[in-house]
Amino acid sequence: MVHFVGAGPGAPDLITLRGAKLLEEADVIIYAGSLVNPALLDRAKEGCRIRNSAQMTLEEVVEEIVAAEKEGKTTVRLHTGDPSIYGAIREQIDQLEARGIPYDVTPGVSSFCGAAAALGAEYTLPEVSQTVIISRMAGRTPVPAKESIPALASHGATMVLFLSTGLLEGLQAQLMEGGYQADSPAAIVYKATWPDEKVFRCTVGTLAKTAADHQITKTALILVGGFLGDTYERSKLYDPTFTTEFRKGVE
Ligand code: SAH
Repeated sequence: MVHFVGAGPGAPDLITLRGAKLLEEADVIIYAGSLVNPALLDRAKEGCRIRNSAQMTLEEVVEEIVAAEKEGKTTVRLHTGDPSIYGAIREQIDQLEARGIPYDVTPGVSSFCGAAAALGAEYTLPEVSQTVIISRMAGRTPVPAKESIPALASHGATMVLFLSTGLLEGLQAQLMEGGYQADSPAAIVYKATWPDEKVFRCTVGTLAKTAADHQITKTALILVGGFLGDTYERSKLYDPTFTTEFRKGVE
């Protein structure tokens, strides 16, 4: 059996209770060493075989799992944040299905949630944006043309950009091409929830400079949108005049 587990964004106590239990029971742990906090591996039981997937190909990961299965062992495949976001789990799942190896997935706290927490921010402010666009700049991994940054930026919705910290000159130009202004609010959150977390509030026009000034080149999220600004409407849910299933509003 293989358990895909979301490790959370960094802080070792942000893994789920279920994920922690699976880690403690695993005979084999294959972890994404580029981003998973190694402190999580302290949970491994004695004799657990631990492999860092940062130095492995998909084929090698599958080989490791197949070997564990042959010995009747349980594998945890530990991914950073939540495995569903840029986790490359689909290609692993397809390999397991082809071999009849059972698996399940335990979600994790994605870094985009960790970044909002670091900012004390709400992505979905009434009358500002009710949509969160999660995307990335095209780099060595291409992005479908319909999902270009200018096309996505044209919605004016909240944007969370992964895997783009090395491409900020291009990113800010493309955000502006899509309709953001140079003074539209933006932020860079480096290593959200890690002990060395850093939060920089800036504008779309100063994203590249802000990162350069603070030597931020990786492990960061770029956040863009009016949710980082000062104006919004209060929620209907907690409005005294608004009636809900649970509370009668005053006239
Ligand atoms: N599955 C992960 C994302 C993996 S892609 C998740 O749900 O968070 C790797 C990218 O995620 C990094 O390049 C960076 O953009 C972002 N990232 C991962 N952990 C981060 C953290 N703690 N703080 C800021 N960005 C992070």
